[in-house]
Amino acid sequence: MGRIYLSLSQQSGLEGEYIEKALKSNWITSGGPNVNEFEEKLENYFENNSFVAALNSGTSAIHLSLVLLGVQHGDEVICQSLTFSASANPILYQGAIPVFIDSEPDTWNICPDNLEIAIKDRIKKGRKPKAIIAVHLYGMPYKVDEIHAIADRYDIPVVEDSAEALGSCYKGKKCGGFGEFGILSFNGNKIITTSSGGALISNSKALKEKAIFYSTQSKDDAIHYQHSEIGYNYRMSNICAGIGLGQMKILREKIDSRINNHLFYRELFSTIEEVELFEVNSEDYFSNYWLNIILLKSNEVKNNLLQAFEDANIETRPVWKPMHLQPIFESYPYYGNNIAEEKFEKGLCLPSGSNLTEEDRDKIKNVVTTFFNKNKRIIVK
Ligand SMILES: *Cc1c(COP(=O)(O)O)cnc(C)c1O
Repeated sequence: MGRIYLSLSQQSGLEGEYIEKALKSNWITSGGPNVNEFEEKLENYFENNSFVAALNSGTSAIHLSLVLLGVQHGDEVICQSLTFSASANPILYQGAIPVFIDSEPDTWNICPDNLEIAIKDRIKKGRKPKAIIAVHLYGMPYKVDEIHAIADRYDIPVVEDSAEALGSCYKGKKCGGFGEFGILSFNGNKIITTSSGGALISNSKALKEKAIFYSTQSKDDAIHYQHSEIGYNYRMSNICAGIGLGQMKILREKIDSRINNHLFYRELFSTIEEVELFEVNSEDYFSNYWLNIILLKSNEVKNNLLQAFEDANIETRPVWKPMHLQPIFESYPYYGNNIAEEKFEKGLCLPSGSNLTEEDRDKIKNVVTTFFNKNKRIIVK
């Protein structure tokens, strides 16, 4: 029987047309008509004065946002600790120093209290942070109003890591459009894919153009190859953008099916007391539920359940290991109260792809009901 995965890419069937067009016209390089059209489609999606530069990954989008903000060697950059390493690695690419912030318990994202404590402390030490990287983790919006109020008070720009949050909204406004920069990922496991790709969102044409300039090796305006700034090879390819154009056609359906998965899990766990499904019960927070996560009573139960899923050939994963606990990052400053640690210890990510079938759901349900019935019997003994 086929394995059920956490989050797989799903084709619309229209990707081929765009790729074919690129092949026929011999636009097989970075940039090109598909890239321009893909950017336009994204700009329309984000509406209010958004400018999008299509790049070859979400990671390069985060890196270029730091470059554009002038983050330099020795500068400090604040970053949410509970995230995927790609949120934090670009800080090190710039030779800058990450300062990690714990999560708050509601959205599991960057904690406003610890953020402000950290900013005050860094300023006191003469090291005012150059930027804040906040993440809408698993598609759940962070506390946008609180975080941006603090960022504004101290005049620190926010890079909004929306890699997992295409389609999510906060107070009716699309995630990715709140920060000085928003970034998207089109990796194979994200909401839509370009095989590998990303985008940098800003509110100015000049910033978009500057991002494209950096992403295409920072060539000065001269016929000979002249460079006055460090360049990067970060532009999206015309073939990848073709895949993206096909994917954009079914974006709505993809988000809807992720949300349907969430409703399935909500029903499944509504009767299982030992399990807490991660969600926020407030109309302000509209998550795309990129992944569904449950919190178990202990690390041990989590590991046992993960194994039960594995025995049934179903992929589940622990929550991202917080950055301040990672061997590569553990020596950097951290401000927090162990919220992220707890999520890491007890949280389990469940299959949430937009192509999850009715049959897949039945199998998942089977594992869950068997597991918790068995556990109950042991307790009764
Ligand atoms: C996937 C991801 C990224 C990086 O995107 P890539 O396109 O894989 O480089 C960054 N941040 C988060 C939170 C992600 O999940």
